[in-house]
Amino acid sequence: MTKLYIVGTGPGRPEYLTLRAVEVLRKVEVVVGYGRYIEPVMHLIRGKIIYTTGMRDEVKRCLIALRESKKRDTALVCGGDPGIYGLAGLCLELNERLKIGADIEIVPGVTAALAAGALVGAPFMRDMVILNLSDLLVPWEEIEHKLIKALEGDFTIAIYNPISRNKRKNITRVLEIVREMRGNDVLIAVVKNAMREGQKIKIGKISEISPEDIDMNSIVIICSSKVRKVGKWLIAERGYSEKISKILTELKI
Ligand code: SAH
Repeated sequence: MTKLYIVGTGPGRPEYLTLRAVEVLRKVEVVVGYGRYIEPVMHLIRGKIIYTTGMRDEVKRCLIALRESKKRDTALVCGGDPGIYGLAGLCLELNERLKIGADIEIVPGVTAALAAGALVGAPFMRDMVILNLSDLLVPWEEIEHKLIKALEGDFTIAIYNPISRNKRKNITRVLEIVREMRGNDVLIAVVKNAMREGQKIKIGKISEISPEDIDMNSIVIICSSKVRKVGKWLIAERGYSEKISKILTELKI
């Protein structure tokens, strides 16, 4: 039976593709994806049947992939991980609703928050929340409510889609709420184009970060009160300090 592989291609640079993603992309006959996500894997899929669609054509992209997969092995590519604001959910839903009966395998990928986290240190060592600011499909009230709960829980928060339709309204509101609830010293990292061309990193206190520093290719990390800046790194404390002191004393360092 032929299969549909929903493949996460990671943050961008081909080194961050998983071995399973490479294996799948080499073996399928058909590849479906949005132009930008196809580019990083082009070297693996030359000569195959390739369907590219625009960014907003998610439903069409999934339908093409589901139907093709009934005839030939097909890969539907998504940036990062397919289950983090990618096409995994939509594809599974269409497959059930339209009774297409495709045999689906989801191939996970390195999601943008983890790529950004690794670039700035270890901000997620003490739990994390992932939040999407896009209010195209989800009401803004729900997003704001979740932000407030995550801040009350003192989580480090990774924000996806900080800008939608070229508007900075949502991220500006988020920065306002963070300042109101947590003050001016909260550490923020803005990572643009993590692990791909155009990579740019800015780390600072919230008072040093402006909405203009953030674009639609950025992940914004709002640090919990347990994150410290040590040199160029952000590190979430995980209760190691006592253990470290004890061992250093034992070792007489
Ligand atoms: N499935 C993707 C996310 C898609 S939503 C994943 O798992 O990473 C699109 C949002 O992801 C963008 O608006 C941006 O906030 C973020 N994003 C995706 N790739 C990124 C990268 N390389 N660097 C920084 N942010 C990225």
